[in-house]
Amino acid sequence: MKIAIIGTGYVGLPTGIGLAELGHDVVCIDREQSKIDNLLAGKIPLFEEGLEELFHKNAQAGKIKFTTSMEGNVNTADLVIIAVGTPPHPVTKEADLKYVYAAATELAKYLEGYTVIATKSTVPVGTGDNIEILIQKTNPQAQFDVVSLPEFLREGFAVHDFFHPDRIIVGANSQRASDLIDDLYTYFQDKTTILHVKRRSAETIKYAANAFLAMKIHYINEMANFCEKADVDIQEVSKGIGTDTRIGPKFLIPGPGFGGSCFPKDTLAMVYMARQNDVELSLINATIKGNANRKKEMADRILSAVKRIENPKIAILGLAFKSGTDDCRESPAIDIILELLEQKANITAYDPKAMANAQSALGNKIHYADTLYDAVKNADVLAVLTEWQEFKALDFDQLSSLMRNKNIIDCRNILNPQKAEEFGFKYQGIGIK
Ligand code: NAD
Repeated sequence: MKIAIIGTGYVGLPTGIGLAELGHDVVCIDREQSKIDNLLAGKIPLFEEGLEELFHKNAQAGKIKFTTSMEGNVNTADLVIIAVGTPPHPVTKEADLKYVYAAATELAKYLEGYTVIATKSTVPVGTGDNIEILIQKTNPQAQFDVVSLPEFLREGFAVHDFFHPDRIIVGANSQRASDLIDDLYTYFQDKTTILHVKRRSAETIKYAANAFLAMKIHYINEMANFCEKADVDIQEVSKGIGTDTRIGPKFLIPGPGFGGSCFPKDTLAMVYMARQNDVELSLINATIKGNANRKKEMADRILSAVKRIENPKIAILGLAFKSGTDDCRESPAIDIILELLEQKANITAYDPKAMANAQSALGNKIHYADTLYDAVKNADVLAVLTEWQEFKALDFDQLSSLMRNKNIIDCRNILNPQKAEEFGFKYQGIGIK
């Protein structure tokens, strides 16, 4: 199948490379010239385990191409996938659809023959209806269907999740479009559930899923607060409730709050969408508010560990919103650092993959270290904010000789508290006294 993907970011690129690997002919289109130039020069613009190998393999085989131009590419495609960003509107916080509608208006001009247009961008209910009207207006001759194909990949596991999805949701209102999507996903027919639903249901499933997962994280963070006060171990509680098959173990790991390019904006967009329909989503509202407080609580915790030290030096390990990615969008680490900076803190940070993205967010407001051990030199407190494997193997002996004061705030519970204490550290994890 000939596929054009509009938007070559964290979703568009792994999707394009995955579909090329399945044998489809893919063209990735992005309006950002530098991104396309890099891809054409063999440089991949984001970090995802295993993606680079598949990128080179399929680019060399001519299965995937990169361009800034829709012209000459959309007209030959059987399927056009929209995977552009849907950031929160700066004022209303609803999903800002300007990139989606700009892409739809432009692609409409080049449609020839029957084409399916699929949204992989996370879009509010009714966006498919609007895209349909927009394309009809721009190109009244066009023969097309609009389907919703929400994306559920996890950053850090994008390649794995492309080939092993829990399920595939297809929101198509026409049989012809539905059949085309079945052809697209032939490889998955006997491997996973392919759920065909109405387009508006597919759009809603994506938001309902993300809001639920965000609530689950907020729930376990609140339980962790309780455990700290009541002298209970959250990790035992988490295991105990997670083994109940009605609850499940995932997303029950307490931490510094959820972040990333999806949960924060999708919870806000869900609440906005509900209000438009005169529905108040009290649980999701509480989750949004609680998650914002969470990051303040973490900053307070770090500061209180050094409250008796004059001009304390804070070492931050981890800047990405989670391990396995270089993405710092809405990263709790960035928000916590901004909070610490409000209190005039002196910060040195290190992340194995996300230094460049963090630097674009924070500029020269903090110091950046080349290694974990450079970051902790003369530090009065060490705060772990991302759960990188590299940090789990931290050498306490070395740490102990490098730090000025031995305080650890482990917001990811990845270090060994007993070992830390053996080396004389004052250790504080999450949800344990
Ligand atoms: P991104 O910012 O990484 O990538 C979007 C790309 O679209 C950018 O490279 C941008 O230059 C390009 N673009 C914007 N307008 C364009 C246009 N008119 N023509 C061509 N290119 C254009 O965003 P992302 O993280 O890949 O997210 C894309 C969508 O997928 C969002 O709606 C997001 O909510 C959703 N989503 C993201 C994830 C994730 O883990 N990142 C997971 C599931 C769903």
